[in-house]
Amino acid sequence: MMKLTDRFGRTVDYLRISITDRCDFRCVYCMAEDMTFLPRNQILSLEEIYILAKTFVELGVKKIRITGGEPLVRKGALELFQKIGALNGLHELVLTTNGSQLVTAAPILKVANVKRLNISLDTLDAAKFKELTRTGDLQTVLNGIQAAKKEGFERIKLNAVILKNRNHAEVGDLVQFAIENELDISFIEEMPLGIVEKHNRAEAYYSSDEIRADLETRFVLQRSKDKTGGPSDYFNIPNTRTRVGFISPHSHNFCSTCNRVRLTVEGRLLLCLGNEHSVDLKKILRSPNFTSENLKQAIIDSMEIKPEKHEFNVKEQPIILRYMNMTGG
Ligand code: SAM
Ligand code: SF4
Repeated sequence: MMKLTDRFGRTVDYLRISITDRCDFRCVYCMAEDMTFLPRNQILSLEEIYILAKTFVELGVKKIRITGGEPLVRKGALELFQKIGALNGLHELVLTTNGSQLVTAAPILKVANVKRLNISLDTLDAAKFKELTRTGDLQTVLNGIQAAKKEGFERIKLNAVILKNRNHAEVGDLVQFAIENELDISFIEEMPLGIVEKHNRAEAYYSSDEIRADLETRFVLQRSKDKTGGPSDYFNIPNTRTRVGFISPHSHNFCSTCNRVRLTVEGRLLLCLGNEHSVDLKKILRSPNFTSENLKQAIIDSMEIKPEKHEFNVKEQPIILRYMNMTGG
């Protein structure tokens, strides 16, 4: 079995694929209000995404996460999941979604062999939900969560981006909701990706340490040894099924064990979220001289430019001019 290994001895066995830059929400930390989306010919076709997924699995990738934009708004997404879910050698196909389409999509995702779902939920207050997502409806997402539970998805995880003075006071209620619904929950520090107007990132920054301290006034958090292959620190809450995770991209603590790369919807392979190091795989796919061997070699060679660690700085202007919806969170 082939393996992708970088200069620092890290094996890459986890690929995140953004299958669309489009979304039915406009979350304040993710998108500008009037986003311009990429023209169709610049984004990978579903067939191209499938070829890339298959190639990565042949190169030893065991886990694929589909993200976006909102993956479930792309036409044909469910068929793509079915095809990727059937790839020999892939252990886990997982999905990150805003939950808006889950009432209809959950049964199909189950059949497509999707193993786990991450569902974004930043607040349980309908008015605040509207403010944060600009176009989203809380009840639709809550119904989506119930639909996913009914399908029997195990270890559904909520993802909450916490912003100071927007939703930081709700971290306890979100955990309580997770406990009552037997879900996991991860709190994410905002990452400075793209310039989003009317939104001062330095002001909005609320650290994982602050969130944890707030939670410890209400719950007992026991550090867990579980690792899911992501940049999370996990805690168990005794006598519940809920695990609480903290994703702290501002600290460098997870770079040394980084096992993942990302594929943007434009077909760029990003070797690190926080760096601009990338390889244009779409160009290779669309070249008249395309062969699957060339593609494989380009992916193997790309390991040479995977940087040792990322660079983020909230206090200064964002140095990374991609929006999250293009990168795939
Ligand atoms: N639309 C789907 C969703 O919202 O779950 C998938 C894509 S979204 C870009 C993936 C995750 O990234 C979401 O949990 C979202 O909250 C998070 N996210 C978006 N922009 C972010 C930012 N600037 N900093 C940290 N997390 C962000
Ligand atoms: Fe859409 Fe997800 Fe970005 Fe919100 S975070 S705008 S749901 S892609």
